[in-house]
Amino acid sequence: MTSKLQAFLNKYPWEKHKLKNQKPLEFIWEFDLEVSAKELWPHLIETSKFNQALGLPKMNFEESNGRLHGTATNAGFRQAWVEDKWQWVAQKSIIGGRTYSEGFGRYVRVIYDLKESSETKGTCLTVYFGWLPRNFFSRVLLKRSMSWLKRKYSGLLTEIAGKIRQKKPVYEDKNTDPINNSSEQRLQYYEEKMGQRNLDDVAVRELFNFIRTSAEVDAYRIRVPELARKKGVDENRLLNACLHATRLGLLHMSWDLICPHCRGVRKQYKSLKDVETEAACEACSIEFGSDHENALEIAFHIDKEIRDVAQVFYCAAEPSTKEHIKFQQVLEPGEERVISPGVSTGRYRLRILGAKDYQYLDIFSDSEKESIKWNPDEKETYKAGLESNVILTNPSESQKTYIMEDVGWSDLALRPPKLFNYQQFRDLFSEEFLDARVHLSVGKQAILFTDIVGSSEIYIQNGDPKAFAQIRKHFDIIYPIIAEHDGAVVKTMGDSVMSAFTDTLDAIKAAISLQECFSPSRADLNLRLRTTLNVGPCIAVNLNSNIDYFGSSVNAAAKLQAHAKSNQIVFTDAVWKEPGVEAYCKNIGATLESSEEKIILNLSK
Ligand SMILES: [Zn+2]
Repeated sequence: MTSKLQAFLNKYPWEKHKLKNQKPLEFIWEFDLEVSAKELWPHLIETSKFNQALGLPKMNFEESNGRLHGTATNAGFRQAWVEDKWQWVAQKSIIGGRTYSEGFGRYVRVIYDLKESSETKGTCLTVYFGWLPRNFFSRVLLKRSMSWLKRKYSGLLTEIAGKIRQKKPVYEDKNTDPINNSSEQRLQYYEEKMGQRNLDDVAVRELFNFIRTSAEVDAYRIRVPELARKKGVDENRLLNACLHATRLGLLHMSWDLICPHCRGVRKQYKSLKDVETEAACEACSIEFGSDHENALEIAFHIDKEIRDVAQVFYCAAEPSTKEHIKFQQVLEPGEERVISPGVSTGRYRLRILGAKDYQYLDIFSDSEKESIKWNPDEKETYKAGLESNVILTNPSESQKTYIMEDVGWSDLALRPPKLFNYQQFRDLFSEEFLDARVHLSVGKQAILFTDIVGSSEIYIQNGDPKAFAQIRKHFDIIYPIIAEHDGAVVKTMGDSVMSAFTDTLDAIKAAISLQECFSPSRADLNLRLRTTLNVGPCIAVNLNSNIDYFGSSVNAAAKLQAHAKSNQIVFTDAVWKEPGVEAYCKNIGATLESSEEKIILNLSK
């Protein structure tokens, strides 16, 4: 045995019970790459795309009892296996294992180990394969195919490093099964229909380009913010294009329930009203409610008549779908392990798979290097420095999985509040509403109320029909102003309008635009408005088949109406503290008053 292999096995020892006294067939390859581990990692963990680029066959996966069961056909031979729980430390190592019921091996473990190489400032990547072959014949076959695989790895890794350095896309996004003529004809029909809908040309072009050419791995589930960022198009414009495409039948929308731990899609609903209150994740062995803020994601899917994309795998790809997890480590009873997570500053969560309780770990740049000993039974927030180690111990009688994860959620997902506050969605999908039992937390929203000043006098002076026509006209003016500022009208109550915004500054700008429109200086329009605002957590519920917002934040905005006069914007302290609001208000030449936890903006006439 080479000393290199021996050193590697000391770091990553075999579990004795797996070996069963059989001598493993082992391969260890080293690749020096002129890119940093940080640059390489995101592409390495795209194991599905990596394996596809290597030329490995497609795999099928099924989940049962929280375990992944895979099948594939290699060189004409069927392989069937159960995946070990993947283990990794971000930017440092990945360990995978498969127990085969059919195939060349009984078991294989694969390890990637990344180290900074001192000479080149690049990365030394060690790739290890340890096989337990099924018999003599498969031992010979494995030897031969592994030397083929080594050449493939060498070529692909050099190519990937080159593309990273040249800032080119690493994996070619290509549809391997180009759409046929009849689908193309249908697509052109949809393209024409979309062209008549006054949509953004660039967004529509990118969407059709994606439908035609994207790789199957990506085409299965369209996440609008992710695609917008990748193509460099405006997110709202792309969302608008997707919503219209859904109305036409080219796309389908799904409401995906996300496990708060592994953040995988646990259930897909065709409509918002089908979303249930409770769900479970077998892989994480937890139950969770659909009411938490990040429980739902909205995704789009291409109509099967156009492109029948099945979910394809070239790997189980656990680390790539769980990028929030900085390390996942499986410890046997009594085992102790030291991990150097090497993460940046911020808050992280430490938890054991399947456990409800968790601890926080705050990483500071100024804290002295010190190892922390994680005790899952303690109610503690640990503090550590950038280079600190985390010591894991498993005093229990059973195997346990230790996880450290980022507490922040990805901003690449489209979530309900964004959609609910988007006027086009409310206009196009008025049939989408929540089940009466479901209360969905939508997090912090800015709520804007408008009301007509002295509406009873208007009715008295003008008589009902004329007054009503005036009030209707005022709605027609308000709606587009709300939409222009990326807000949506939630409901109207008499002469009053309640609208919601994701960004508080947008709500302020909308209020100012509204007041400018209904300014006392306008002789042609004799209606005047009072406008009030608050920002805070809201709950989305179903009211009269409409998505309505509730909560004390909404009530506070409504209550302020009693304190607002014509040509004023009255809002709470919470609004004032939102990013950009203070600077914006001081810049527009309005006079500010503040009294009893409210701020009054008197606009110039
Ligand atoms: Zn889960």
